[in-house]
Amino acid sequence: MVVNSVHWFRKGLRLHDNPALQEALNGADTVRCVYILDPWFAGAANVGINRWRFLLEALEDLDSSLKKLNSRLFVVRGQPTDVFPRLLKEWKVTRLTFEYDPEPYGKERDGAIIKMAQEFGVETVVRNSHTLYNLDRIIEMNNNSPPLTFKRFQTIVSRLELPRRPLPPITQQQMDKCRTKIADNHDQLYSIPSLEELGFRTEGLPPAIWQGGESEALDRLNKHLDKKVWVANFEHPRVNTCSLYASPTGLSPFLRFGCLSCRVLYYNLRELYMKLRKRCSPPLSLFGQLLWREFFYTAATNNPNFDRMDGNPICVQIPWDQNPEALAKWAEGRTGFPWIDAIMTQLRQEGWIHHLARHAVACFLTRGDLWISWESGMKVFEELLLDADWSVNAGSWMWLSCSAFFQQFFHCYCPVGFGRRTDPSGDYIRRYIPILKDYPNRYIYEPWNAPESVQKSANCVVGVDYPKPMINHAEGSRLNIERMKQVYQQLSHYRGLSKSDNTDLPFVYPEKVIIGGPDGSHGCICGYSFRSYLCKSYIP
Ligand code: FAD
Ligand code: MG
Repeated sequence: MVVNSVHWFRKGLRLHDNPALQEALNGADTVRCVYILDPWFAGAANVGINRWRFLLEALEDLDSSLKKLNSRLFVVRGQPTDVFPRLLKEWKVTRLTFEYDPEPYGKERDGAIIKMAQEFGVETVVRNSHTLYNLDRIIEMNNNSPPLTFKRFQTIVSRLELPRRPLPPITQQQMDKCRTKIADNHDQLYSIPSLEELGFRTEGLPPAIWQGGESEALDRLNKHLDKKVWVANFEHPRVNTCSLYASPTGLSPFLRFGCLSCRVLYYNLRELYMKLRKRCSPPLSLFGQLLWREFFYTAATNNPNFDRMDGNPICVQIPWDQNPEALAKWAEGRTGFPWIDAIMTQLRQEGWIHHLARHAVACFLTRGDLWISWESGMKVFEELLLDADWSVNAGSWMWLSCSAFFQQFFHCYCPVGFGRRTDPSGDYIRRYIPILKDYPNRYIYEPWNAPESVQKSANCVVGVDYPKPMINHAEGSRLNIERMKQVYQQLSHYRGLSKSDNTDLPFVYPEKVIIGGPDGSHGCICGYSFRSYLCKSYIP
């Protein structure tokens, strides 16, 4: 029987460690590598130009790697449900392969495609390779619910066998066996679209700081490992000015798009550790960052409402304020706090900000200063981050805003002091808010406190050339901590079971909890069945 395979790329934009692609090649007579994209919807999606550009570069890289193997990438315009019936017939497809997508939306989409393929008599092969572990297995081992503390998650993971070893890249020899004739008009029919075709204006667009694609990812992997050797003890290096800038060793956008396999990273770290330490097996903490990724994926995989407060069983229902004006100031870097504004500017211009910078701006928007819902912040990140990832982004925002996973709310970042400790010279601010570049170090984090003469000689008068701070941080944060305390007091009142704070047992809350607002009004926390696991010592 003739086997005509189609491998459908979505994430997993790579030729190395790609088990579903290997299945496509296995014994096949022809193979076509497909990416489906609907330019019509590109503009409407909540994805900024930087992430589109990163994706298109990743596709270009894939195409050029396939060319080297005498094959090509087929970019098909349209929606999967419309496109596949046509392709399956036209190419006489008998086997469809793709990587398992653990996110609820992806699972639903794939379910429909698998069903359709069945109706066409097409075999589908789905393989897990976006995460280290089989997430369903983790859930199964935790009594059929996702672990909601990192500690619990680690306990389960430590009982699992090691992640599956990564597969080698596909070879010329494999591809030769299922060579597919590439039509002369291939570029006309299946080329990678430009940003313009997707509806973006590109004049004056500065060059990308982050270049997408598997080749770049593998290059970075080596630099990343070199840096790990340099740091030698594998501890998280101290954050300083340098760490705030885009780093040639950063990997998150590449893991997000699957230009780099997380298992390749995992096993490289493991081998490096064993070589340096001459020990048999590394501690789980070596993989801490990667495990946080798995943790959020696991928490989200069966929860279609993971990215919202409403109907989300793990999310504390906090009565956030509605304040579109304040939200816009935050999103556009016009808060009047140079540290916050510099971070938001870097995010918008470059698409990546450091983990602690994410903490700073997320805390400021939510429980720290503005008391605006994490959902709004998450959406801004979703648009602007290159590594924006449905599960990780929503999970991190819930964490940071004390809405789930039990962050301690009494610790609040100061939008002046936190930045100053990280970058005392204020160079980071000068780079992203050039209007403040002539401020002396002493005032660069709080220009409103500079005497008028200093403001004038720095050519930047606060309230004229740069905004006044939008909130009094000391007052605002004090008030918000009080509000948060009330929320949690109510919850612990209903928890009412145990005084012990480090239990891993879930507590189920009643249907509705009413709390008083700080101004005497009544806000509503409406915990569906609210499960809490208390754990305070882990920060993702
Ligand atoms: P490294 O420290 O070098 O870590 C290696 C890899 O592990 C990363 O590339 C990333 O894939 C993963 N990782 C690291 N830290 C975390 C973490 N805390 N949680 C989950 N995975 C982690 N990360 C995303 O990948 N996508 C997001 O959408 C995202 N949204 C975030 C939102 C907020 C509010 C916060 C506080 C954090 C968010 N993070 C997100 C996590 C983290 O900030 C980034 O993964 C990290 O900064 C990426 O830099 P790096 O590649 O140098 O990470
Ligand atoms: Mg890093």
